[in-house]
Amino acid sequence: MGKERMTVLLSDLEIARRVKELAAEISREYAGGKVTLVCVLKGAVVFASDLMRCLEIPVEIDFMAVSSYGSETKSSGAVRILKDLDSSILGKDLLIVEDIVDTGLTLDYICKNLLSRKPRSLKVVTLLDKPARRKVKFTPDFCGFEIPDHFVIGYGLDFNEDYRQLPGICILQPEP
Ligand code: 5GP
Repeated sequence: MGKERMTVLLSDLEIARRVKELAAEISREYAGGKVTLVCVLKGAVVFASDLMRCLEIPVEIDFMAVSSYGSETKSSGAVRILKDLDSSILGKDLLIVEDIVDTGLTLDYICKNLLSRKPRSLKVVTLLDKPARRKVKFTPDFCGFEIPDHFVIGYGLDFNEDYRQLPGICILQPEP
């Protein structure tokens, strides 16, 4: 680990409260049906596991991994599937679970890719949104928190694979 400074942006309690609210909204949206969560690895794994335990409807989960940043903090824009879903999504109500929307390029790619496999419906929930950095028009259907343009870590989010286990979300700044 290099020399970095961390400032808490969202505490574990704030996140837990908001996750419960999101789960209630999502449970209402899919009431009477079943939702298939598509968890985008690895960053969304903590959010997805908390969210699914708060949902009041039948749930399935599948996982997908795509490349985005590599070891840098700036998006290259290139997206590649590293791990595809295990099951067919034909006719299913899909909810993509993402940690953060930044430029929007990753979700734009994932949505187009999954829509071509003909799910019944496709929506997106993201814990965090940085709308200031959008490169493509993309609006999540459900969003936990809109945040300013900072690089954040914790609650599943990493910097070079470190810090994913932090219970809250912190801003990571290089030491001047
Ligand atoms: P986008 O394609 O929207 O630019 O980026 C989406 C992906 O970039 C996220 O799933 C996440 O992996 C990564 N990302 C974007 N912003 C941040 C950030 O502030 N912190 C971390 N750790 N990852 C980020």
